[in-house]
Amino acid sequence: MEKRYLFTPGPTPVPPPVLAALAEPVLHHRGPDFRLVYASCLERLRSVFRTEREVLLFTSSGTGLLESAVANLVSPGDRVLAVSAGYFGERWAEIARAYGAEVDELSYPWGEAPSAADLASRLDGHRLVLLTHSETSTGVVADVQALAATAREAGALVAVDAVSSLGAVPLETDGWELDIVVSGSQKALMAPPGVAMVALSERAWAGRGSAPRFYFDWERTREAQAQLDAVFTPATSLVVALDAALGLLLEEGLEGAFERHLRLGRACRAGARAMGLELFSPDDDSASVVTAVRAPEGVDAGELVLTLRDRFGITLAPGQGPLKGRVFRIGHIGWFDVFDITTALAAVELALAEAGADVERGVAVTAALDAFERPLTVA
Ligand SMILES: *Cc1c(COP(=O)(O)O)cnc(C)c1O
Repeated sequence: MEKRYLFTPGPTPVPPPVLAALAEPVLHHRGPDFRLVYASCLERLRSVFRTEREVLLFTSSGTGLLESAVANLVSPGDRVLAVSAGYFGERWAEIARAYGAEVDELSYPWGEAPSAADLASRLDGHRLVLLTHSETSTGVVADVQALAATAREAGALVAVDAVSSLGAVPLETDGWELDIVVSGSQKALMAPPGVAMVALSERAWAGRGSAPRFYFDWERTREAQAQLDAVFTPATSLVVALDAALGLLLEEGLEGAFERHLRLGRACRAGARAMGLELFSPDDDSASVVTAVRAPEGVDAGELVLTLRDRFGITLAPGQGPLKGRVFRIGHIGWFDVFDITTALAAVELALAEAGADVERGVAVTAALDAFERPLTVA
């Protein structure tokens, strides 16, 4: 059996105790056994979202809950401002258009970071602003705190795609007064794909619109969760797994996890640079979720990703949209340590050397290990 390595920013590797939890006998979703897990999972989610309010849990991919935000908040013709600088920001805008919203886009070239000043100049009576915290396609983590404050000042509801940022980098649902925060199980939360969650402010509850909805109707799920009596059959085994994963995350502590991700980002960037590669994602500590690296001259990044998979059983993420073929991405959120980074870098180095690219051999791993160990106060 070939060993496989999953080094993507979602899905991410799942720790053994979480895999073991998945193998437990299936629970009935209305029985007392599931209620215990359901209650624990919802409570842990509140800690991870850093909110005192309810977090709704759905069996869905993350995109389903982005759609739930639009379906619950928007009435046809509502004015929505979508901030986009990559693949996932553009998806947010598309979902809002699909529901008949009148969508204005504050869009940037992929890889740029949105600014609160630009947002302030574009806001003009919009009811809802759509933000992406970590734009996984480019590696940019936006200053959601500043963007949200600007949107709120203009009276808009603020919805945040935190699918790849929650549990990876600091995010304060209540502290930053975010109205809607969406995340998913399969990124920094260390569980398999399949469940997603949304945290909601009182303003969000009060601001619901008239678009049609049923499965994703927030009220239906809120009432059911209040009784710990799921309204539809959730993926109970995934909830058991997520509860175990959240337990591990909270045991490490959110601050500990944030620091680890920051160090992993440093290690990954230092290693890539040391072998002579150019970074696409920002070369600073903001880029702690995923490192996007430009393929060297004459190498197709998509081919490189396929080669790594075929030769070494290593899965990296390819570039998306306009970055297809131009960049490859190494994830470092969730159950990652520095040796995952050095393994990924060593394999990239070997594959590029074999492809005839001009890379410096034998330096990436040392640079990564050194960067990981360096005291945090030294940039
Ligand atoms: C992964 C991701 C999504 C999509 O989540 P799915 O579970 O694939 O639907 C949305 N936004 C961001 C920023 C992501 O990283």
